[in-house]
Amino acid sequence: MEQTPEANINSTVLKKWLSLNDGELIIVGGPCSAETEEQVLQTAKLLATEIKVKILRAGIWKPRTRPNSFEGVGEKALEWLVKAGKATSLKTATEVANAEHVEACLKAGIDILWIGARSTVNPFTVQEIADAVRGTDIPVFIKNPVNPDLQLWIGAIERIAKAGIDKIAAVHRGFSWFDKTIYRNDPKWEFAIELKRYFPELAILCDPSHISGKRELVQQVSQKAIDLSMDGLMVEVHPNPDAALSDASQQITPAFFIDMLNNLVVRKTDCDDLEFTNQLLQLRKEIDGIDQELIQKLAARMQVIQKIGEYKFNNNVTVFQL
Ligand code: PEP
Ligand code: MN
Repeated sequence: MEQTPEANINSTVLKKWLSLNDGELIIVGGPCSAETEEQVLQTAKLLATEIKVKILRAGIWKPRTRPNSFEGVGEKALEWLVKAGKATSLKTATEVANAEHVEACLKAGIDILWIGARSTVNPFTVQEIADAVRGTDIPVFIKNPVNPDLQLWIGAIERIAKAGIDKIAAVHRGFSWFDKTIYRNDPKWEFAIELKRYFPELAILCDPSHISGKRELVQQVSQKAIDLSMDGLMVEVHPNPDAALSDASQQITPAFFIDMLNNLVVRKTDCDDLEFTNQLLQLRKEIDGIDQELIQKLAARMQVIQKIGEYKFNNNVTVFQL
């Protein structure tokens, strides 16, 4: 895949802006939707009791699959978010889907914007947002498109980077898929891994809530993301999840969230113990040996196939026989 200059996006700018120490995760929590001023403030205050939480999220314009469902409270909630941010010193984040949303957020003083999965699929929408943030230094988080298309995700990140935004993170929230799985959105982890290979320095967060669709899975999906060295989590947290106006079944309480954060096992990405390194080297050599044998066997198999082909040809027999 051809590399572009935007492929150099570096997470250190964002991590520095968030005052994160080396190895600290980018933790975002908050309701799927802002519902009332009280709910936003209450959630923020509960989240701020945990130092690991840095960003308060809440959707105010909600992209719903069907009309006549709760579509967010709209612009008036910007003020609630900003107040909650000031009361707790959490950074605030909300989803934008057009230039008007961006302008309203910038005017209100929202700290971070995110592009939702239904917007990432549309380059017109992403470009409109990119043009609206040009000349500002607001951080932008970019969720994966709903469909498993890595190029669309990369393209959206490039459009935002080309607009001069240097504080960018990708958010992996899983993909719509025709096979029924236990997840609401199939994680297809390989897409997040491929994105990391393309943008090695880009921060990638996992949104375990939209992957899971049910709160029982949120912890294990979060752990899996951390095991894959993701840079953080964006989790839907509501003071009373069952009463939430959107995505009720996947939201968790602030207490559960904080408990979960403190139970996550953050493993080392490497180890400099000599014994460990030697053992690993030995096992890798074993794999190399097995790979060699497999390749030789496959080559031998190919030769037999070739012989069959020639034999049929010489005897004037068709390639396929029932
Ligand atoms: C959300 O974060 O509430 C949301 C709508 O997410 P997504 O764009 O991932 O569906
Ligand atoms: Mn949601």
